Amino acid sequence: MDVFTLFGANAIILLVMALGFAAAWAKRRRERYWPVWIAANLVLATALALFMTLPTAVPTLAAIPNVLLVVGFALRWRAARLFSGSPTTAWALWVPACAVGWLFALPAVFHEGLVFAAVNVVLALQAGAVAWHFWQERKPASVSSHGLVIAYGVMALSFAARVVEGLAFLDGFTSYLPLDGTLPVHLIVAVVHTSASGAFALSIAYERSAVRLRDERDDAQQRARSLGWLAERDALTGLMNRRAIEPRFEELHAAGFCALAVLDLDHFKRINDVYGHTRGDEALCAAAAALNPDEDCLAVRMGGEEFVLLLRGAKSRERAEARRQAIPRRIAEEVPDLRGSVTASMGLLEIPQRGMAGAGFRELYAAADRLLYKAKSGGRDRLVSETVSLCRSAPAAPEQREAA
Ligand code: GH3
Ligand code: MG
Ligand code: MG
Repeated sequence: MDVFTLFGANAIILLVMALGFAAAWAKRRRERYWPVWIAANLVLATALALFMTLPTAVPTLAAIPNVLLVVGFALRWRAARLFSGSPTTAWALWVPACAVGWLFALPAVFHEGLVFAAVNVVLALQAGAVAWHFWQERKPASVSSHGLVIAYGVMALSFAARVVEGLAFLDGFTSYLPLDGTLPVHLIVAVVHTSASGAFALSIAYERSAVRLRDERDDAQQRARSLGWLAERDALTGLMNRRAIEPRFEELHAAGFCALAVLDLDHFKRINDVYGHTRGDEALCAAAAALNPDEDCLAVRMGGEEFVLLLRGAKSRERAEARRQAIPRRIAEEVPDLRGSVTASMGLLEIPQRGMAGAGFRELYAAADRLLYKAKSGGRDRLVSETVSLCRSAPAAPEQREAA
């Protein structure tokens, strides 16, 4: 394959990749590395087109594509650093380009072989710097980041081989671009490099935006979960609130929660009046802790000093009663300066798991509340319970019990 075809192929691939970068940039305008990557490709494509057309034996004309090549790689280094959020310096853009320009400006001092070697030293260092940057920033699981290291590393080695060639045949050079047998090899490496670096740059950017999208989605889900959690929690005691159980009562009932107890602290207004609201709040928190919720006993603060327990499994009535009796002990432990114990009254309704279709939370809560009222009027600090047994044809027949 002749060198002009290879120059042309490189230039076309660079332009196609620039189009790919432009498409990516159009979707993510805030990502500032895309325009730099596009500019790098356009500058490099121009350099290659000029290598094809300009007589490279003339110093002033040969300087243009060489300087553009150096500018193109400097832009790629800048784009790579912007991509990783690393700092960039302006001098890295223009110092290598000016240095290379000066070599061509003084043909009497620097002859062709020396200039050829020097330009390739600069290019090898630039490509090596990009490879080193991607190596430092590589992600262990990312094929693309390793691909970029290899693409730039191989290009740096190819430029380094040209340095050796320049130094080895220092005096034999009559042109700044010797059309010898090594040029096609170098241009084939460049074709591979251009294709691979462009493809990996696009894919590493895609990987990153996929990771970012996933992180944003996880954050949003986490926020939604914590908002949902907060919306279903009582701010003072941390227990569930009414919203947490009422809409899913049917589901909970089907899952075996067949005992519903309503608890109310006795003469609680007096606690606030005598000891103040802060002590009252502490007593409420202690009462909530005494309810000791677990997976078979859900505890809800309905509002004020009123709580609901939903229980499933054996001995629901006894377990609820044990919790009611734990309230005065817990309040005495945690708010010791209250004189006299703070007791609780409870109305408990045991309902069959089957045959209660249509009985919603409101009806059952109202029935348990009526039992609570009986406990209050019966002297407080007691439990009044009722078991609803179902007969096939007759309506539910309650069986009432009282315990103090
Ligand atoms: P009973 O035995 O009949 O239930 O009498 P009670 O005093 O407990 O009932 P009442 O309904 O008259 O008073 C309830 C009191 O609960 C009134 C209010 O001061 C108190 N309370 C309600 N919510 C809170 C709260 O969030 N913090 C505090 N500290 N007190 C509260
Ligand atoms: Mg009360
Ligand atoms: Mg009350």
